[in-house]
Amino acid sequence: VPLIDYTSRSRWGEKVKRLGLLVIVLTVMFLVGFSAARIENDQSLVVRRAQIAMGTLVEIEVRGLAEQQANLAINAAYTEIRRVEALLAGVTHIEKGILIPQPEVDRVLQACAHSWQVSEGAFDCNLGSLINAWGFSTGKPVVPSAMTLDIALRTSGWDGFNRNSDGSWTLVEDAWLNFGAIGKGYAVDRAMETLVQHGVQEGLVNAGGDLRTLGSDWVVGIQHPRQPSRLVGQITVGDKAVATSGDYEQVLTLDGEHYHHILDPYTGMPARGMQSVTVIAPTSMEADILSTAVFVLGREAGLSLVERLPEIEAYLIDESGMEFTSTGFYAYWQGE
Ligand code: ADP
Ligand code: MG
Repeated sequence: VPLIDYTSRSRWGEKVKRLGLLVIVLTVMFLVGFSAARIENDQSLVVRRAQIAMGTLVEIEVRGLAEQQANLAINAAYTEIRRVEALLAGVTHIEKGILIPQPEVDRVLQACAHSWQVSEGAFDCNLGSLINAWGFSTGKPVVPSAMTLDIALRTSGWDGFNRNSDGSWTLVEDAWLNFGAIGKGYAVDRAMETLVQHGVQEGLVNAGGDLRTLGSDWVVGIQHPRQPSRLVGQITVGDKAVATSGDYEQVLTLDGEHYHHILDPYTGMPARGMQSVTVIAPTSMEADILSTAVFVLGREAGLSLVERLPEIEAYLIDESGMEFTSTGFYAYWQGE
């Protein structure tokens, strides 16, 4: 749960600033009364809820709707998240041969294929057997033996997936899919779409660090990778998605070695070199994918990928605690 502590920029504060001189000519009495009314009004328009889903805390906040309407929208968004969770949970082991997925699964598989390609294999949805070998999904991680690792690597990898012109897929080998680095992002996008369909114009969905905002500027804190209660800084985003991948989420320490859950598909070992990668993107699915991909690729290849992609920015903290950003990142930076 790497991203914490978000707030919406106070709208009335902005308006008071904009009113400028006009405000000054108003009597103090009136100004105080006016501001207080706005504060009270704004507070009654915020509905904020949290539920556990997809193995994490999912927070949804809606502003500017009557409470009942906001709750209807939020309920529908949670239902949508659980639908997506169940849908993707149903696509784990696929036998080799021809696969005809339903359209929504096909969309996710196409995102997997595209991301695998642009990341040159660093991002891979077919790592199920490798991830199982490490046991991170079971909550009881182990360091796999060389032999287990070898078998897991041979039964992993996206290269056996081919999409045919009729929309079906040909699988050269059995596949064990794992949507751990894409599913939450996709679900957040669907949840936000559901909120919009229910009349929401200002809101936020945060699935344990996969976060999407709508309708106003939101200040989002980026968690310090080594001091959980500290922020490394804050960014301001409006109608955007932010995701962080960190080496501190699911960990295993054995004989002084630190292992974590983001795996390098080439070696089968936890990716080295980064403590955390935060990505800003137009959608949560892109942010989710790219934070993981850049984490695996590391500073040079990771930032070069981000620079090639439009509307994507990234903030990296490497293993020594040094910070690196893409060229456009500081447009969002609010400071520490
Ligand atoms: P989090 O789930 O903590 O937000 P990520 O979005 O980075 O973190 O996703 C990490 C999860 O993705 C892992 O737990 C695993 O299920 C899966 N995964 C690990 N390595 C890779 C990889 N190289 N490519 C795609 N998915 C991965
Ligand atoms: Mg991710």
